Amino acid sequence: IMYVKVFKQSHVTLMKTICFFRHICSLNYVKMEDGESQLLSDEGQTPEPLLGSLDIFIFSLIAGLLIYWFLFRKKTDKDIIIQTLSISNKGCSFELFIHQSNRNVVVFYGSQTGTAEEFANRLAKDAHRYGMKGMAADPEEYDMSELSRLKEIPNSMAVFCMATYGEGDPTDNAQEFYDWMQGTDDDLEGVNFAVFGLGNKTYEHFNATGKYTDKRLAELGGKRVFDLGLGDDDSNLEEDFISWKEQFWPAVCEFFGVEATGEDSSIRQFELVVHNDINMNQVYTGEMGRLKSFQTQKPPFDSKNPFLAPVSVNRKLNKGGNRHLMHIELDIMDSKIRYDAGDHVAVYPINDAVVVSRIGERLGVDLDTAISLKNLDEECNKKHPFPCPTTYRTALSHYLDINNKPRKNVLYDLAQYASDPQEQENMRKMASASPEGKALYQSWVLDSERNILAILEDLPSLNPPIDHLCELLPRLQARYYSIASSSKVHPNSIHICAVVIEYTTETGRVYKGVATNWLKNKEVTENGHKHTVPMYVRRSQFRLPFKPSNPVIMIGPGTGIAPFMGFIQERAWQKEQGKDVGETILYFGCRHKNEDFLYQQELEEFERVGVLTQLNIAFSRDQERKIYVQHLLKKNKEQLWKLIHSNNAHIYVCGDARNMARDVHTAFYEIAEEVGGLTHTQAVDYFKKLMTKGRYSQDVWS
Ligand code: NAP
Repeated sequence: IMYVKVFKQSHVTLMKTICFFRHICSLNYVKMEDGESQLLSDEGQTPEPLLGSLDIFIFSLIAGLLIYWFLFRKKTDKDIIIQTLSISNKGCSFELFIHQSNRNVVVFYGSQTGTAEEFANRLAKDAHRYGMKGMAADPEEYDMSELSRLKEIPNSMAVFCMATYGEGDPTDNAQEFYDWMQGTDDDLEGVNFAVFGLGNKTYEHFNATGKYTDKRLAELGGKRVFDLGLGDDDSNLEEDFISWKEQFWPAVCEFFGVEATGEDSSIRQFELVVHNDINMNQVYTGEMGRLKSFQTQKPPFDSKNPFLAPVSVNRKLNKGGNRHLMHIELDIMDSKIRYDAGDHVAVYPINDAVVVSRIGERLGVDLDTAISLKNLDEECNKKHPFPCPTTYRTALSHYLDINNKPRKNVLYDLAQYASDPQEQENMRKMASASPEGKALYQSWVLDSERNILAILEDLPSLNPPIDHLCELLPRLQARYYSIASSSKVHPNSIHICAVVIEYTTETGRVYKGVATNWLKNKEVTENGHKHTVPMYVRRSQFRLPFKPSNPVIMIGPGTGIAPFMGFIQERAWQKEQGKDVGETILYFGCRHKNEDFLYQQELEEFERVGVLTQLNIAFSRDQERKIYVQHLLKKNKEQLWKLIHSNNAHIYVCGDARNMARDVHTAFYEIAEEVGGLTHTQAVDYFKKLMTKGRYSQDVWS
């Protein structure tokens, strides 16, 4: 109440202050007999004092604070670091780029998981080989409506590495640029461009953003320097990128009339600064943005400022088998975080401490050395590859992906540090585009699942400086899980349902998924101690129908059940509120009834009380012949067609994108053909329309 009162009073003070100054501008002063001036009101009356003593106090306080903030507050190193890390160039004009840097190639990236950004960096680096100067840029940080100004730079080119995300959407950082392209009629004549799209063929809208960018820039008059490249993450995205790049640069040379200088592109982008006597309070310990943000948590929470949510529940869901499926509850009380059923929760995991230490031992470095990696190009927006100053241990634990198979450019750049000529040659070969090199990389790195530690262990002569390794490894990404709860029922917690990834690779090593293994260990201890997880919520389009009376058909085998736990809880809540709730049908699938029937008790209870009007379960391995969810769909084809075609039912599919989602889709085509009498083409068209109307939604992962 105090806070509201002071706020209100501040507002009144501000208004009065404005009135006060407006009065001064039009005041009538009269000379009093004692020589003092007296302010008169318009009517010539002596006015009421405009500012009371409380107003004057608040006004002075605000003015004092502002003066202190702008003039006297000492800028500490910490402030400078924070400033460089925060997105300082939001809406940055092209002016700087055009007139103050001598670059002529700008590679914009629409990146969600960091791959498009990584490819953009590689292209920007390549530009040196052709006597051009490149830079990678985040479209979110530029005023992209000035794109046409690029033509002011002679022989310039904009390249776009655009990832497609979700249901054909642009990535978060490319959304504004995408909206601009849709709405603008700017003339891009004279702007040279090329696009490489990053997508996945298992998804319906393969590379939609890359395709749109390429088409739209040409429509607006831009000059396409080279054909659109379409990378497919379902096969080998990097291979697609390299193949495209190999034809792209010769086309660029021909277009601009330049030649390759033959200069090696293996150049350092960052220099190492070792901080020997730094105050450890200024060293990042895993924060994503603001230093010490984990000690003093301040909302709003997002990807740059995650909330440290205590893990209040961590229980094993399966009764048998050798897998570990888990239900985790994150406490979001007091965080002001809001979510809706169907949203995703992102968590920032930490790499396995044993693997981190082994990298340090193998390279013979003290991992607790405080360092910074500083961009050698001072004009570049990206000052550091990850928050700096930090220690090698923090970088390898929180900021770098050490668990995945390194990409070819990492092998190429590291090869110089292999003292054995044979090892060096093999590394170079694997990085090359030769058929022999491709085959070697496929078998030795990809199929054998060698991460950076395995590579260092299996190539004993390879001794890279750790700072160069840290520069080359990609950033460790947040992991997204479909939220398995409804905020109507659980406003203070977010539930996760996930399976722990662990298996033995071809080389006999145990592969452990970073995030799920890290989450598995976050158990509530007997003394009540709760581990915390840095997290934030990402909004999705996966939503229950606006009208609760619409029937819903949910298909989610395995951990694909996750969002449907939220949906079912929400339908139960709607029922409790007296709403007319339509049919709620679930198709769930698991291996064995006695092993991995996830949430069995809860689901059977929902069925008993009539929230779930139908619970269909495909136990795939309880009989000789496999039974999957799509087989059960086909069994109930008449009922389903009626619900879809006549009763406005909404269909939801969650889980594996590669096989399950496609097979379920096919089952629906068959239902439309067999019961609805449609031809195959008509059936495809029918479900396409349902998707556009938001009546067939997928939350699928590959
Ligand atoms: P799982 O236990 O391996 O599989 C669940 C059931 O689906 C099993 O009975 C399996 O049968 C069956 N199945 C296999 N192929 C199928 C197909 N083509 N069509 C229909 N059913 C099929 O599943 P999981 O380990 O939980 O993984 C499910 C997927 O959901 C994963 O890709 C995961 O990434 C994803 N997902 C996870 C979340 C999350 O928040 N954790 C959210 C959404 C999606 P058999 O094994 O006997 O063949």
